[in-house]
Amino acid sequence: MNCDLLIVGAGLAGSTVARMLAEKGRKVLIVEQHKHIAGHCYDYKDQEGITVHKYGPHIFHTNNKKVWDFVNRFTEFNYYQHRVLSYADGNYVPFPINRDTIKEVFGIEIPTFEINEFLKKEVEKSKFNDPPKNFKDVVVSQVGEKLYETFFKNYTWKQWGRDPQELAPEVAKRIPVRENRDKRYFSDKYQGIPKNGYAQMVENMLDHENISILLGMNYFDIKDQIKANITIYTGELDRFFDYKYGKLEYRSLELRLKTFDQEYYQPVATVNYPNDYDWTRITEFKHFLNEKTNKTTVCFEYPKAEGEPYYIVMTDENMKKREQYMEEVKKLEEQGNFLFVGRLAEYKYYNMDQVIGEALTRSVRI
Ligand code: UDP
Repeated sequence: MNCDLLIVGAGLAGSTVARMLAEKGRKVLIVEQHKHIAGHCYDYKDQEGITVHKYGPHIFHTNNKKVWDFVNRFTEFNYYQHRVLSYADGNYVPFPINRDTIKEVFGIEIPTFEINEFLKKEVEKSKFNDPPKNFKDVVVSQVGEKLYETFFKNYTWKQWGRDPQELAPEVAKRIPVRENRDKRYFSDKYQGIPKNGYAQMVENMLDHENISILLGMNYFDIKDQIKANITIYTGELDRFFDYKYGKLEYRSLELRLKTFDQEYYQPVATVNYPNDYDWTRITEFKHFLNEKTNKTTVCFEYPKAEGEPYYIVMTDENMKKREQYMEEVKKLEEQGNFLFVGRLAEYKYYNMDQVIGEALTRSVRI
């Protein structure tokens, strides 16, 4: 079978590229191994009418106007600013660390203009590599050892199954430290949740006469039977090359859903559990779309090594292997028959908006 453009995966990367190229008049065939579109941001309504994110909570946030304008073509967004509390020493405190978190942990009220000085003293008391070499160094160099131990050390051990000192500094840079009382998880200019869900948003993206989709179809089972002018690959990087440089690690989650016969389970969408219990966080979905129901559905996240590849694992060893694979990718892309895009195909800890941003930019070259 021959086709012009073959896209492997109907997640955000594949669907964005598909839409861009379909609008340019190209014929696109998407093969998707799951029986649904939208990749890991797939959602559905449960029996209570609550929109559940099947693969864990996804909150859209971006400073990229081009990306925001693009997604707004396919859905309206609910006004929503994500809030997280962290359960530490028996209290629920704001997270990321802000002035109120410091007040709760140290039991002292510090004015905004003195927070910086206070944290500097905490840092001076602490030991870390300067310049920071790993996850722990970054956090300790910003807030000192006490706050690191309270909020980051054990959460990170649970989430990644390894010592935070084995993880790249970039992972810690995802979490800001605030001197003011801003209690939002993200401070991006544009934030929200698609009003009718992510799956509907992606369905609208793919609703174009030039796009065909084969669901439940594994690319590796059919790749020898399809001849495409260009293949856009969004699956796992190492798998594509048959693991020739060794396996890259991915981190997965076991998501346990529970429905409770009460209106709300917790005051904000997500509560993190750095030190207690085996789960890392609990998310209560109805906060996202302000859904009015008598019952509520929550999701407990238990990190694990095996299963759906949700996260890339930023250790030196994995990033070195990535470099080797990316050399191969570069060669293929230069020959003009392939494009690798997305979290799994580029082995990058992208957020949703970064995936879409990359896909928009790079599809222009095809
Ligand atoms: N993290 C932490 N404590 C927290 C929240 C996050 O130590 O309460 C660390 C942890 O290593 C986590 C990383 O910061 O993997 C990034 O957190 P983020 O919330 O961005 O993770 P994601 O939403 O991608 O799972």
